[in-house]
Amino acid sequence: MIVIHGKHECCGCSACVQKCPRHCITLDEDDEGFLYPKVDMTACIDCGLCEQVCPWLNRSGKLQPIEVLAAKNRNEEERMDSSSGGVFIALAREVICRGGVVFGAVFDENWEVKHTYAETLEDVRPMMGSKYVQSRVGKSYRDAERFLKDGREVLFVGTPCQVAGLYGFLHKDYPNLLSVDVLCHGVPSPGVWRRYLNETFYSARRVSAGKDTVLSCSLSPMPVIKGIEFRDKRMTGWKEYSFVVCGKDAFEADQNTVLLSAKYNENVFMRGFLADIYLRPSCYRCRCKNGMSHSDLTIADFWGVNLIMPDFDDDKGVGLVLVNTGKGKAVFDGLNMEVRLAVLEDAMPFNGGFKELVQAHPGRARFFRYYSEGKSVVQSVNRCLHVSVCRRILQKVRHNVNSAARLVSWTWKNGKV
Ligand SMILES: Cc1cc2nc3c(=O)[nH]c(=O)nc-3n(C[C@H](O)[C@H](O)[C@H](O)COP(=O)(O)OP(=O)(O)OC[C@H]3O[C@@H](n4cnc5c(N)ncnc54)[C@H](O)[C@@H]3O)c2cc1C
Ligand code: SF4
Ligand code: SF4
Ligand code: SF4
Repeated sequence: MIVIHGKHECCGCSACVQKCPRHCITLDEDDEGFLYPKVDMTACIDCGLCEQVCPWLNRSGKLQPIEVLAAKNRNEEERMDSSSGGVFIALAREVICRGGVVFGAVFDENWEVKHTYAETLEDVRPMMGSKYVQSRVGKSYRDAERFLKDGREVLFVGTPCQVAGLYGFLHKDYPNLLSVDVLCHGVPSPGVWRRYLNETFYSARRVSAGKDTVLSCSLSPMPVIKGIEFRDKRMTGWKEYSFVVCGKDAFEADQNTVLLSAKYNENVFMRGFLADIYLRPSCYRCRCKNGMSHSDLTIADFWGVNLIMPDFDDDKGVGLVLVNTGKGKAVFDGLNMEVRLAVLEDAMPFNGGFKELVQAHPGRARFFRYYSEGKSVVQSVNRCLHVSVCRRILQKVRHNVNSAARLVSWTWKNGKV
């Protein structure tokens, strides 16, 4: 029976929940807003299946990429709607056109994030774009297994631990499965996200709709939101992306209004995420990324491409693709993408997602103390990230010196001086 010896020992993939023959494992939200398995001991028959499928208990060796590529979707509209190079939608189209099924993350009716599957391109569209919140896998592994056994082609996209959980659950590779993981910085707490949405958009509606509608929105604050983009490129470009939330106009229901639009480093939720305040504990000791998930392909942002191959960058998004297996190569080579060969060592210093260990922000415990006291996310993040003016200047100088040093070292190494 599965026993978790510490919060960092479970990534919440739910492979154990889906495998249990007695259905005696449920997922409960903890006081940081993350889901963890809980076993009903009275129903457990001690078969050990939950332990056998757990990717945290059963580590596999590391895969080295056989090829590293810079990639851009040739359809500019699709690339603009994607987080980086639009690689995901190109893969999804290929699989759907061959009668396959695509698994990925979407927003649910409460704007929380969950995994689901799509059998049409129309249903694939909501999967596009990164959602920086841990997604609930639900029964996706069981569904994927059913399609695989029926002989359908399956594309499964998720974080490395979700892909590792899928392989643990399936217990074998299927020739008709294509697995893709995102390069993973870590996932923020769904509970923190829920509270952030409630506090921010309840008051946003108050402001946009005026005093008279306060009562109705306090009873039902969520339907006001119509769309959320964590990585909008249209406002400020790909490198300086924005976090954008659209809503229904309070008076003209058909009219879309921008409820919030801020550059990634000016939005409180994004700042807390990027400062590593509310990542899942397992993300600080990840065992699944950097080749450990055994995904066929890894997709990422090609940060630094403007220096490494400037003529390939148009600030509309360039993807970095790590081709990990022959199967991944066969599918990727068949796509109609703009592609260049790249060198992993060149890209790594520009991308925090490659870091083996992410350090928790020193204010993490304080943040979750505020969280359990019911304080607002905005207030708590601001308090944890508050720095004096002197320190802010020092940090800015240090940041600029580091960036300059990285640039000099890169240009020196590549013989550009
Ligand atoms: C939580 C998270 C952290 C990331 N950290 C980094 C990083 O540090 N460095 C980096 O280079 N790239 C990171 N990425 C990947 C990056 O944001 C892009 O998703 C990737 O470059 C693919 O872009 P695309 O344009 O090809 O596809 P997109 O259209 O952007 O498709 C994104 C794919 O990711 C899936 N997805 C979206 N949100 C989630 C989620 N919450 N959980 C699981 N799957 C999801 C979707 O189902 C879709 O298949 C991260 C992604 C996520 C979700
Ligand atoms: S040991 Fe078997 S029955 Fe018990 S929780 Fe695990 S999978 Fe379920
Ligand atoms: S890592 Fe996944 S399989 Fe392991 S205990 Fe957590 S939810 Fe279950
Ligand atoms: S950092 Fe590791 S544990 Fe965290 S979501 Fe990514 S793959 Fe999972």
